[in-house]
Amino acid sequence: MTDEPKRDITTRLVHGGERGTLPEGKSVSTPIYTSVTYTYDTMQEIDQIFGGEKQGFIYTRYGNPTTAALEDAVRDVEEGAVACAYATGMAAVHAALLASDLKSGSTVLASQDLYGATTSLLNNIFTNFGVKTTTVDYNDLTLVREKARELRPQVMIAETISNPLLKVCDIEACVEIARENGARLIIDNTFASPYLCRPLTLGADMVVHSATKYLGGHADAMGGLVVSRDEMDAPALVSVMKLVGGVLGVWEAHEILRGLKTLGVRMDRQCENAKRLASHVREHTGIGRVHYPGLGALVSIELKESTKDAAFRFMDRLKLCVRSTSLGDVFTSVLHPATASHRDLTPTRRREWGIVDELVRISVGIENIDDVIADIDQALET
Ligand code: PLP
Repeated sequence: MTDEPKRDITTRLVHGGERGTLPEGKSVSTPIYTSVTYTYDTMQEIDQIFGGEKQGFIYTRYGNPTTAALEDAVRDVEEGAVACAYATGMAAVHAALLASDLKSGSTVLASQDLYGATTSLLNNIFTNFGVKTTTVDYNDLTLVREKARELRPQVMIAETISNPLLKVCDIEACVEIARENGARLIIDNTFASPYLCRPLTLGADMVVHSATKYLGGHADAMGGLVVSRDEMDAPALVSVMKLVGGVLGVWEAHEILRGLKTLGVRMDRQCENAKRLASHVREHTGIGRVHYPGLGALVSIELKESTKDAAFRFMDRLKLCVRSTSLGDVFTSVLHPATASHRDLTPTRRREWGIVDELVRISVGIENIDDVIADIDQALET
């Protein structure tokens, strides 16, 4: 019996079932904490948590137990000191740039092969606040070094494996150039995932992920993460969560945390499948050129017939591989970079960068690779 008065049914309907004692057993998987706010027994505790004197959740835009579990799991596998999750990969890229102390007059030295939206974020939004961006081919390290010495950038930013030509970044060399010139190096590790590459262990300062891709892996949740090697970045990264507000939803945090558990087995299978596919298409008479870095789960092919129509025809004929604007999922998907990720570039720029009309990017899934190969063969031959 409690000494609480018996309240009206409307009141009991509102408060019933809430804020009870949690079960004694430890749940084996992290529950989805949908609660927006957290209450404590006394105002003093709430005051201490607001003031940072005591650890605790208070409001989901500031932090949430489900999201925190994901952040900790990704921080651990990336071997960083701190991780923060955001609503999408782009929100994470934005957060990493904001947390890097860019100010009016700062310069960013960016890889010319960056994901198009990242380049546009720098050129269309950061530029309005006086941040200048210069792009350079990160595969030409002499040029990168030259530009870094000339511009003394605040931030250097590149991707582990570039899109769609799958060039691999020499992260250690970039770290050296960044250190020589007082720049901070941000690596977008989306295409490799921490299973294949851990840029922080090579000396990068921050890693960014579109968790929408390999970390989640099932095309059912969008999300992004930033992991920093330095605990000192925590306040700036948390500030972006609190003040910009693009935090990861708790349902998505749950999906991505679940996806993470199978990242290793998915990646093993996808990499093995990609290797088989790359060696098969290299021999195919309908294919002119194959881009495959020897590791990872992406393979880009250039059809012999060098037109957009040929690429579209090939893609339309696929019956198993999915035409979709993403990558890193359990199913094999195909994308036409010239009309999708690199649509906004001028045709001349695209040609200069090697993003030709006959190029098709394949994100290899976990299916039986013989079925994927058979689908690609029939689409090439019909
Ligand atoms: N970084 C890379 C390398 C990407 O490929 C993408 C999306 O395709 C992003 C960032 C942005 O991620 P999101 O779509 O989750 O915002």
